[in-house]
Amino acid sequence: MKQSELSKILDQRWEELWKFSEERERILQKSHSKIIKLLASTPLPTEYGDFTYMVFGDYATGEFHNAVIYGNAKKSIKKNGMLVRVHSSCGTSELFHAMNCECREELDEAMKRIRKNKSGMIIYLNQEGAGNGIAPKIKAYSKSLVWKGNKVVEAKDKNGKPITAYEAYKMLGYKQENRSLLAAAEIIKFLGIKSVRLMTNNPKKIDELRKYGIKVEPEGIHIKPNGDIVKNSLKAKAKILGHNITSKDLK
Ligand SMILES: [Zn+2]
Repeated sequence: MKQSELSKILDQRWEELWKFSEERERILQKSHSKIIKLLASTPLPTEYGDFTYMVFGDYATGEFHNAVIYGNAKKSIKKNGMLVRVHSSCGTSELFHAMNCECREELDEAMKRIRKNKSGMIIYLNQEGAGNGIAPKIKAYSKSLVWKGNKVVEAKDKNGKPITAYEAYKMLGYKQENRSLLAAAEIIKFLGIKSVRLMTNNPKKIDELRKYGIKVEPEGIHIKPNGDIVKNSLKAKAKILGHNITSKDLK
């Protein structure tokens, strides 16, 4: 078999798997079945204090999600008004300290606030690239970042405007927001939490958790952008996704 034929079959297979996973999530959602299962839990010392670390399996997607709860979860979970950040994975910034998005700074800020509050939880969902997956994310980055000599700069469209990752998703036919908070909602319910103070600027996250029956009191999360690429990313989030970004966030 030629390499190109094999590649075509693999692409097709991937497409089928992806559709199947979406379908499975829809069925599970309709049938109100639990989609998550606690697989393991441990105390964990961190720079931000001692936490309880939990790992959950997600039956809808086959992914693993993580939750870190400040203190001993057996005693520290607040049923009402728990400070929570629902955070989607971003390996480029969180592992490799990439400087074209604000994910790592936001995660860091959320951990600091939890430490200051002496209570709280991060739900860390494994959904890269606005929920499209790691390969689509890297494809989108390849449209929005280019080499200029030895330096990486933003790609510009023909009008000279920067092409953000969000615009690149659209150009490539992906959704600009394809994340699901179903697993996060299930984790919150599993822990017996009825209402949360949610650290987010994203109105969709608030609406979605409310749709799943969780009371949400929004609290913004603000970081200092480390350069123009992040500023443009925040502007795109405000314009395209309706995130609550103020001029203060862009300084
Ligand atoms: Zn990111």
